[in-house]
Amino acid sequence: MENSVEMRTWLDDLGLDHPLVIAGPCSAETEEQVLGIAKALKDTDVNYFRAGIWKPRTRPGNFEGVGALGLKWLQKVKAETGMKTATEVANKDHVKLALEHDIDLLWIGARSTVSPFIIQEIADELKGTDKIVLVKNPVNPDLSLWLGAIERLYTADIKKLGVIHRGFSTYEKTKYRNIPEWQLAIELQQKYPDLPLICDPSHITGKRDMIFDVSQTALDLNYDGLMIETHTDPDNAWSDAAQQVTPTTLVQIMKDLRIRKETV
Ligand code: PEP
Ligand code: MN
Repeated sequence: MENSVEMRTWLDDLGLDHPLVIAGPCSAETEEQVLGIAKALKDTDVNYFRAGIWKPRTRPGNFEGVGALGLKWLQKVKAETGMKTATEVANKDHVKLALEHDIDLLWIGARSTVSPFIIQEIADELKGTDKIVLVKNPVNPDLSLWLGAIERLYTADIKKLGVIHRGFSTYEKTKYRNIPEWQLAIELQQKYPDLPLICDPSHITGKRDMIFDVSQTALDLNYDGLMIETHTDPDNAWSDAAQQVTPTTLVQIMKDLRIRKETV
């Protein structure tokens, strides 16, 4: 990845005067829910509207996502609000469908980053794409798996790359849902300083009242952006209810954060 300097061009090209913000529900539930949240986020600092449509739940039996139908809802979000869209892809069929529906940003979830087989399959399907591709850290604190995924994608000629730090599983009882292990992300940042680094405080904390503090820590560490799960009725969300914030709270969080982006 010698030419890593070109990696951050996509972010610089957005010309933002604040950190990149990706927000929207954990899961797309219904067309009304998706459009309702998108409309509430339309005139805010949000740059990409996220919604998970293929939901990799750890145990079966929970809501597993609406599937490809959700891509139509995301297209509607773009048509009706002008917002760019983002979703998770976990295999080559997802990639194919997401590209066919012109989703602007694809992210790879923590449960996929652990598998070089699945990453290679996704990389091959994405080969040469000009879409933005963000790689979440693997569920376990293994920097090599994270780096390996980035390198497989870069080798597939995907230039608009970035990473999302969503914390790591632990057997210990902690206040976090997934412990941040900031040092690991900092190591990655030092190895690839030109790779945009986004924090996902929603999955790190698992609790909405901790999101502000973790977001502030990330910005103090010079992260480039935030992915924050946002829902108009968080308590009744079909997945990750405890960690989602309302659009009003998201706007307040963005207003209260001290943004201390260093300019080089
Ligand atoms: C998500 O973003 O909703 C998600 C499933 O995330 P992760 O892969 O970090 O668990
Ligand atoms: Mn979630």
